[in-house]
Amino acid sequence: MVVALSYVIAIILTIALAILLYPISAFFWLLGLLGKIADKLFVFTNGAIKSLWRDIRNGDQNTVNQWVCSCGSTNSGEFCSECGKPHVAEKTPEISGDKE
Ligand SMILES: [Zn+2]
Repeated sequence: MVVALSYVIAIILTIALAILLYPISAFFWLLGLLGKIADKLFVFTNGAIKSLWRDIRNGDQNTVNQWVCSCGSTNSGEFCSECGKPHVAEKTPEISGDKE
């Protein structure tokens, strides 16, 4: 009789725990999961913004108009700083041999 009663109490307690504590624990688990997602999202967004600003800053200074002259020097202006040739889009093979 006592054993049966303890069984009943155990079953009632288990049901009560399942009904009361599972949703609460699930809620906090979900909260932790959301926190992890928010952390990752924050880190990702932070990195994206940082790289975006770095691109904007670097783009203004260097990489926009850089070109390599046929003499081998890298320039950012309209004319080569080494030999004075104007900036042409691509190397043109016809000019190199014929004149001079
Ligand atoms: Zn040059």
